[in-house]
Amino acid sequence: MNRPYNFSAGPSALPLAVLEQAAAEMTDWHGTGVSVMEMSHRSKAFGRIRDEAESDLRSLLAIPDDFAVLFMQGGASAQNALIPMNLAQRRGSAMADYVVAGHWSRKSWAEAQRYGDMALAATAETPAEIGGQAYEAWCWLPEPAHWRIRSQAAYVHVCANETIGGVEFPSLPDLAALGSPDVPLVADMSSNILTRPVDFSRLGMVYAGAQKNAGPAGVTLVMIRKDLLGHATGSCPSVFDYAQVAAAGSMFNTPPTYGIYMTGLVFKWLLGQGGVAAMEAASRAKSHLLYAYIDQSALYSNPIHPGVRSRMNVPFRLRDPALEPLFLAESEAAGLLALKGHKSVGGMRASLYNATPLAGVQALVAFMQDFEARHG
Ligand code: PMP
Repeated sequence: MNRPYNFSAGPSALPLAVLEQAAAEMTDWHGTGVSVMEMSHRSKAFGRIRDEAESDLRSLLAIPDDFAVLFMQGGASAQNALIPMNLAQRRGSAMADYVVAGHWSRKSWAEAQRYGDMALAATAETPAEIGGQAYEAWCWLPEPAHWRIRSQAAYVHVCANETIGGVEFPSLPDLAALGSPDVPLVADMSSNILTRPVDFSRLGMVYAGAQKNAGPAGVTLVMIRKDLLGHATGSCPSVFDYAQVAAAGSMFNTPPTYGIYMTGLVFKWLLGQGGVAAMEAASRAKSHLLYAYIDQSALYSNPIHPGVRSRMNVPFRLRDPALEPLFLAESEAAGLLALKGHKSVGGMRASLYNATPLAGVQALVAFMQDFEARHG
């Protein structure tokens, strides 16, 4: 099938093989005579789907046994409230620290302030000079060695990849080595989960909406160290209490069954592709190709400090913004979809998640070259 390449930031492209398998199984899952959508979440068949999804995710990310895996609802945005509700009281202080490096981490911090004393550990909200080069606000990342972490903080929250700004932490810091051994790191990996290995020894919790690298919208993946469970505030809804969700195997109430099935199919596809190591290599190849082209171009530019450019979301500007509508119309006609940047930063954005093949990025670069030749 000849499909266009989809560069949507989320919900995003899914592997064609996964969509085709879901289509083939739509009305009759494995001879049960019913669609996954029609099954009881308590049925044996769905139990198998759920269990395989968890065990495949565990093997993809090498999740240690002392971490619980939860399939939740409400998106990453719900987690902005659920994290403080579940974790902030853990040390009795209702205080936690936030690294704010873009749109999504700023939202996390803003929401958390309703639940306690939430301080800024670091922010990229001002312009910075790095290596003699000037960078605009949100186009660089604060060095972990300079984060201000309070010893009584219940956790430090960070967004591993800012989907709108296009900045990504090259690795997550070891807070113990930086002098904060008792403060667990909580990472929003909504836009880069399953694209590189995760060092769980550095983390207390990881969460991600599924709709970019792992499946459809409606499922939120939560991986949390078991010793952090059991500290929810009295006002935390039971359905969002991590300890209760974990104890019920993510079946405290009816889970998003079809979404879990689809993420499970994506997990199997990822395993078949060589797993997270293969996705990491592919993401490097794809993003390098695009950044290298942009950097030598006179028409396009990317404003991000090269050391922290995202492998997932590549924002770029055209020298003359008046050309943007034409760029979008022509790229769409050429089968390159959803390249419009987020309204808060303007310009273009190509999201290069796991289901976007290298051939898609090659087609994008070829189009950009042709467009530059005609309009540059
Ligand atoms: N965090 C990040 C990094 C995101 O990219 C997004 C969504 N684009 C969110 C949080 C919010 O996710 P949701 O819409 O699932 O609540």
